[in-house]
Amino acid sequence: MKPPQFDYVAPASVPEAVAVLAERGPESRVLAGGQSLLIELRYRTERPALVVDVNRIPGLSDIAVEDGSVHIGALVRHAQLEHARFGDPLAELFRQVAPYVAHPPIRARGTFAGSLAWAHPASEWCALAMALDAGIELDGPSGRRTVPAGSWFRGAFTTACLPEELVTGVRLPRPPAGAVVAFAEHRRTHGSFALAAALVMLRVSEGRVAWIRIGLANAADIPLRAVEAEHLMMGERPEPDLRAQAAARAAAEADPADEPHAPAAYRRHALATLVRRCLARAVENAGTP
Ligand SMILES: Cc1cc2nc3c(=O)[nH]c(=O)nc-3n(C[C@H](O)[C@H](O)[C@H](O)COP(=O)(O)OP(=O)(O)OC[C@H]3O[C@@H](n4cnc5c(N)ncnc54)[C@H](O)[C@@H]3O)c2cc1C
Repeated sequence: MKPPQFDYVAPASVPEAVAVLAERGPESRVLAGGQSLLIELRYRTERPALVVDVNRIPGLSDIAVEDGSVHIGALVRHAQLEHARFGDPLAELFRQVAPYVAHPPIRARGTFAGSLAWAHPASEWCALAMALDAGIELDGPSGRRTVPAGSWFRGAFTTACLPEELVTGVRLPRPPAGAVVAFAEHRRTHGSFALAAALVMLRVSEGRVAWIRIGLANAADIPLRAVEAEHLMMGERPEPDLRAQAAARAAAEADPADEPHAPAAYRRHALATLVRRCLARAVENAGTP
């Protein structure tokens, strides 16, 4: 189906975009990579009167590696993260995760920030943002604000972003030096959304877990950080029995949807398996037994 008619503007700066959104926000949709929005327009599940194309705004396409964090501009594409080459565990995680986000043409256009704004429960980037408690940066008529990922996701496809606001970037805290990362996903076909996915970031010191983050995608209607499983591992030797317990705990923290092709029990089982695999790979990479 063709999209319904809409007005179109392509502001040249963030203040210009914010001015348009201040005036017509509730009847508008921001267009970033368009890889989700255009589909919704074609299915006519979205019928905005105005599309605000932010692709011509300069300065939003950079990945900035700073002391304690990595800043991802609102127009950084999935493909940029797939080829991230800065020496950091986070870059390694970007490289592991990105190939699971759709197909190469979609990754060439779709944006990291757009994924967070879209808030699909199966989004890998949303799980990563949640695990690291990213800060989502917004500009709006009342000024700038940063929303922590823990308060950002309000439900499937629902976020704390107001209709008058523009996501301008996302700040991800950097894992500590020496952290190792692992990602695993279960999906039906190459390029389809995850039935379940897990990521682990881990630092081991003197044989014990000194820092850990576990993120889950499609484990609930919002991305999850498996805090109880993290607590189980903290300060302990990451041996196979404990890893299995933590994986089971992470799955218990999940509240997956019950769907005909992937019942909740099946998804929970998949999550436990994926977390266990990630923990095993991370511990192996950390060079501990
Ligand atoms: C076949 C297919 C498979 C896919 N598989 C996956 C997958 O496996 N994993 C995955 O995570 N994603 C997947 N996607 C979605 C893809 O990753 C999208 O790129 C992403 O979800 C949205 O990013 P976008 O830049 O394209 O946003 P758009 O489509 O432009 O926008 C999406 C929504 O976010 C809002 N928005 C975007 N940017 C901003 C902003 N800066 N400020 C305020 N609001 C904003 C828009 O208004 C819109 O409501 C898939 C898409 C397709 C078509």
